[in-house]
Amino acid sequence: MTRLLHLVLRTESDVFVARQRAREVAAAVGLERQDQVRLATALSEVGRTLFTDRDGPPATAAEVWFGVDGATLQVEVVAVGPGQAVRLPTLGRLVDDLTVQDGPTTTVVRMSRRIPVSAGLNAEDLDRIRADLAALAPRTPLDEMAEQNEQLLSALEETRAHRDDLARLNAELEETNHGVMALYTQLSGELEETNRGVVALYAELDERSAQLRAASEAKTRFLANVSHELRAPVTAVIGLARLLDDAESDPLTEQQAREVALIRGSAGDLLRLVNDLLDLAKAESGTIQPDWSDVDLRLVFSQLRGTVRAMATGAVELVVVDPEQPATIRSDEVLLAQVLRNLLHNGLKFTAAGSVRMSAARDGDDWLIQVTDTGVGIAEELHERIFEEFYQVPGRAPTGATGTGLGLPYARRLVTLLGGALTVTSEPGAGSTFTVRLPAGGGDGAS
Ligand code: ADP
Repeated sequence: MTRLLHLVLRTESDVFVARQRAREVAAAVGLERQDQVRLATALSEVGRTLFTDRDGPPATAAEVWFGVDGATLQVEVVAVGPGQAVRLPTLGRLVDDLTVQDGPTTTVVRMSRRIPVSAGLNAEDLDRIRADLAALAPRTPLDEMAEQNEQLLSALEETRAHRDDLARLNAELEETNHGVMALYTQLSGELEETNRGVVALYAELDERSAQLRAASEAKTRFLANVSHELRAPVTAVIGLARLLDDAESDPLTEQQAREVALIRGSAGDLLRLVNDLLDLAKAESGTIQPDWSDVDLRLVFSQLRGTVRAMATGAVELVVVDPEQPATIRSDEVLLAQVLRNLLHNGLKFTAAGSVRMSAARDGDDWLIQVTDTGVGIAEELHERIFEEFYQVPGRAPTGATGTGLGLPYARRLVTLLGGALTVTSEPGAGSTFTVRLPAGGGDGAS
């Protein structure tokens, strides 16, 4: 400990001086005002107790040392007179550390208080402080009393300010709590309302989709029934028209022959539409069950090459590339041939010059069968629409052929039934590629 000041107390009135000096030392080493008062109060309490005869014989004299040890201000009181420890007051939080040693002739009290780091005292500072303190003349007990009163008042004032602060904080806290509760109530109300809305929406959605399903089933049933009923009379009209035109029948006038040809043409279109509708209705109603078997793609390809070739005009080359061996796929041969024939027909229908090419290649566990043409192509935004029932891209096919707009939806339906997917890539003017992706092991889960 670096000692700074030494005092000797002999009577109770010396305690006033000790108090004053304690405050001066505390101020000199950089303790804050409140801490100065705390330390001075602690020392004066110890001094007062030592010199009263309450609870035992008083001390005859006491020496006080003030000093600095590291970053603490130390106060050591050596009282002449044993057994003082029991009489000493509890100093609460006035000092950081307090020890009392009762010896045979003396009682030693040590107190310490931390010095703020900002004080940053070095040896030179301590020398200066020691000199300053030595130069300070002790004041009269009355001065010290007045000072003490002032300090008491300011301490009271500070306590009151603290109490006010606390009350204000409490009030704010209470208000905030009210606000939070109100917000919580409002939010949970809103949440409940939203939840109710969502539940109602779902119920409505369920009802709508049930209605939609029922409507779609009704449509399919209607189409199947109507087309089925229409097929017989339309076929009869075609047959009768053919009879009228027959060489064995009575000859027709030129006008009559033209009209009969028109009837036959129209009835032919109608029959095609009826047949397509019937196919699609059957595919949609789930009555088509694929007949799974190991299909040789090379055989399917060569049959198609034979049957579709007739459609190709001179300006368009039909190329059917034989797939590499082994070219087996688990599928329904009839349905698969129907899909590919449809795509080849479309290719030839929408290509004025160039080629229509069909090829197949393995892609992992799948077969990719592609039909590529160099025809009119399809604008990007219509790539999905052409798979809708009855949709036809506006404008006639370059070959003048007509259609029903049911071929692609039917083909996609069949490919889905076979466990695969039908997609298109195309660019207007450059041609189109329709891709059938099918699992080589079949879509019936038998692989
Ligand atoms: P459609 O009986 O009219 O051929 P699809 O369902 O087969 O009916 O085809 C729908 C429409 O898709 C066709 O009308 C045509 O506009 C377009 N389309 C189909 N295939 C091709 C193709 N290869 N090239 C260009 N357009 C095509």
